Amino acid sequence: MKIFDGHCDVLCKLWKNPNLDFYKEDKLLQAGFPELLKGNVDIQVLACFVPTDVPYGRRFHAVLEMIDVFYEKVASEKFRPIYTKADLDERVLKEQKGAILFVEGAHALEESLVQLRTWYQLGVRGMTLTWNHGNAVADGSGEPNPGGLTAFGRTVIEEMNRLGMIIDVSHLADPGFWDVLELSKAPIIASHSNAREVCNHPRNLTDEQICALIAGDGVMGLTFVDFFTVNEERTVWIDDLLRHLDHVCALGGVDHVAFGSDFDGITKTFGDLTTAGSYAQLLEALLVRYKEAEVMKFMHGNWLRVFGNVLQ
Ligand SMILES: [Zn+2]
Repeated sequence: MKIFDGHCDVLCKLWKNPNLDFYKEDKLLQAGFPELLKGNVDIQVLACFVPTDVPYGRRFHAVLEMIDVFYEKVASEKFRPIYTKADLDERVLKEQKGAILFVEGAHALEESLVQLRTWYQLGVRGMTLTWNHGNAVADGSGEPNPGGLTAFGRTVIEEMNRLGMIIDVSHLADPGFWDVLELSKAPIIASHSNAREVCNHPRNLTDEQICALIAGDGVMGLTFVDFFTVNEERTVWIDDLLRHLDHVCALGGVDHVAFGSDFDGITKTFGDLTTAGSYAQLLEALLVRYKEAEVMKFMHGNWLRVFGNVLQ
């Protein structure tokens, strides 16, 4: 079974700790190459996330450094960058592992379309519009009285549509979600968000948002973040996450739900889903409850469709 994961932060970890080796087994890496191999993860989205303590004026450059880490230490014959729909199709056909570069949070964009296009030229194929805070594009889900897309944010959406970049609404506050959905000409994704009806957290999507995402042929990636999965503080298990999957499917989302682990962006993991290597356990649990054809959609089919529709 092919596995496509829609979000991880391993690049940020490698950028922070230059001594870490992506290709060596290391307890510090949840989505290092040995774990991707163990979990049979074929296609992985790697986000450049700039920590918010990096000051304005340094953030764009920090993304360049992470892109440099990607090409110097991560991308290889064994793990090839994906830039186009043809690349995506080729990886699938030849059963090669593939990597898709993203930026997480337009706070690193520093208000410039030139910078967005520069990232694109360097291989970035998607952007999560915000992190938890507001930025020049829109407000994040952690803002107390959030607004939607700014005038600059609208130009960013138009430019991402023109370039064929994936628009990711995870972390975005609700008003921005609706603005993006109305404005974007291409389907959008929520790379790592769960269902708010099951776990009441502003980082999760409401039923109304999930239905709108479905109507727009978008895809949401259920994420392995414990406090986006259950309301109470306790150890979380795969079964808890499957409640979110059941919920999204009950809303008509069988063709619109996948997984975005957030590995290397989380410190506390599920009891039974600790690294990308644990994807085998998730697969096993899915096959008990769902038909194989459905599991294929969750594990790769839905991501492949939406990425194929947007990438040029
Ligand atoms: Zn995130």
